[in-house]
Amino acid sequence: MWDVDYTLLRGGGVAGRAWKRAFTEVTGLPWRSDPQFGGRTDMDICVEVFAAHGVTDCTPERFFIRYVENFLAVRHELGEQGALMPGVRDVLGRLGDDPTVVQTLVTGNVPEVARAKVAAFDLADSFDAEVGGYGTDDAVRATLVRRSLERAEAKYGERFAPVVVGDTVHDVTAALANHAYAVGVATGSTKMADLALAGAHAVLPDLSDVEATVRILKL
Ligand SMILES: [Mg+2]
Repeated sequence: MWDVDYTLLRGGGVAGRAWKRAFTEVTGLPWRSDPQFGGRTDMDICVEVFAAHGVTDCTPERFFIRYVENFLAVRHELGEQGALMPGVRDVLGRLGDDPTVVQTLVTGNVPEVARAKVAAFDLADSFDAEVGGYGTDDAVRATLVRRSLERAEAKYGERFAPVVVGDTVHDVTAALANHAYAVGVATGSTKMADLALAGAHAVLPDLSDVEATVRILKL
């Protein structure tokens, strides 16, 4: 279960700009919020942002439609302004060679945006996105892990030992709430020590040591 932002890649602010533009288009209000996006679900951020602007009559569903439209219109900027994190392509490839491993996305992003982000770096084939957990599933990240596991077990008809990889304390706590193996990777703004303190079973500085990373993820 891969987190997207600052675990697999960084988007260079493309999604954030689409988000702000959609907010103004939907509400008619100038953007004057500064939420902490890191590790949070889009549903959670949406509720906070609308409340901060005093908007009570705007449903997240309506906002997400406009946000996705805006984001997909500028998705080509991802390849120019964003970047993959070190080692990601090799690690995904190595795990993809193992027929017992199913890789998917568990991310606070809405599904269309998550899929477009990984597709921008030619990584879409690495994941079974159908069994992922997304920011439209719930505001609470732990629920995303649970939904992903339920989807995977329903689709594949077997039990999985889930491994969650993410760059924030939210990823780690969401994993632990579901008795998943939690791997923290410090390629975002959260330090290795803080990921360990949150209870991560393993913490990596990044994924550039492909052998070590694959070994840990297959534990
Ligand atoms: Mg992240």
